[in-house]
Amino acid sequence: MRVIFLGPPGAGKGTQAAKVLEHHQVAHISTGDILRENVKKGTPLGLKAKTCMEAGQLVTEDLIVAMMGARLREKDCEGGFILDGFPRTVPQAEALDRLLADLGLTLDAVVLLQVDDETVVERLSGRRLCRGCGAIYNVAFHPTAVEGVCDACGGEIYQRSDDRESVIRNRLAVYHEQTAPLVDYYRSQDRLLEVDAGGSGDAVLVALENRLGA
Ligand code: AMP
Repeated sequence: MRVIFLGPPGAGKGTQAAKVLEHHQVAHISTGDILRENVKKGTPLGLKAKTCMEAGQLVTEDLIVAMMGARLREKDCEGGFILDGFPRTVPQAEALDRLLADLGLTLDAVVLLQVDDETVVERLSGRRLCRGCGAIYNVAFHPTAVEGVCDACGGEIYQRSDDRESVIRNRLAVYHEQTAPLVDYYRSQDRLLEVDAGGSGDAVLVALENRLGA
């Protein structure tokens, strides 16, 4: 399985990827997670990416493409992958096409997780994460049993600095302007699989398995 999860921030790309991973052994590659890890460690990439990320803007094209070129060559990608948060612009999609051609690989599907802007704001402003295991919670829809403590591992719960409403609106604007054109890009290649991600069910997993005949 080699798929892209496309959709606005808060569409549930990470949550749905975690569900797919329960059934399929593939690498989950979240560019946001890789960048946050680099910011945390203070690497040269992290230092360059930090300001853009805090403002909800995209990190420079060449940094992202180089990062993904290296990541897709890692051993765990041989069994397939889910790309979560990449590509985010048409030039990134074209760079991915070149990268996959170099590696002799093709994409199986691009899953578009559809959700409206107000749902995104509601979801993201309530989103909380575990510092230990990365589990995703929501103060309104899926709170932890004990406030501030992860149900799964007991780790500390935190809110991403870009999950504040003003930054969320900025990220949505960036999505509509720069990422939404990818819908037509992949639709014209007949790769697009559109899924209603407004609910919390297994719609993405089911649609994906139908498409792949799994
Ligand atoms: P995410 O976790 O996917 O919401 O990403 C968090 C932030 O990381 C984004 O708001 C961007 O600043 C940056 N980022 C993640 N993926 C990309 C990408 N493919 N291209 C440019 N910036 C990215």
